[in-house]
Amino acid sequence: MTASASVQETVLLKTQLEQRRIELLSSIHRQLVESDNQTYNDLAGRVHDSAEEAVADLLADIGLADIDREVSEVSDIEQALIRLATGVYGVCIDCEADIPIERLSAYPTAKRCLACQQRHESGGQTGSHPSL
Ligand SMILES: [Zn+2]
Repeated sequence: MTASASVQETVLLKTQLEQRRIELLSSIHRQLVESDNQTYNDLAGRVHDSAEEAVADLLADIGLADIDREVSEVSDIEQALIRLATGVYGVCIDCEADIPIERLSAYPTAKRCLACQQRHESGGQTGSHPSL
């Protein structure tokens, strides 16, 4: 129980997430503007205007490799902000255990506890049947 995020810590993480989102969006915006592609230039305007919208959805399909990583990070952040808004932030999406605040501080977008994340990254192999 004591390991879950307090309200204060959650507010702090939310601020971090929102600031990081703004950084990423302005970087994405700049790269779209600087491209010589009219479609990207149009998109840049929409990225700029959609402060409250799911920007990641907007950009998901354009297949611009240079900003792909940033777009997927924005997507992670937006999902974390949604989980914050709905009160399920800091709860593992696989086993529903509280994610320790130490992990959330290091990875504010974490949606799994460490054990589930490691299982996820190992390719979802179910052979070992971890008992956690
Ligand atoms: Zn878990």
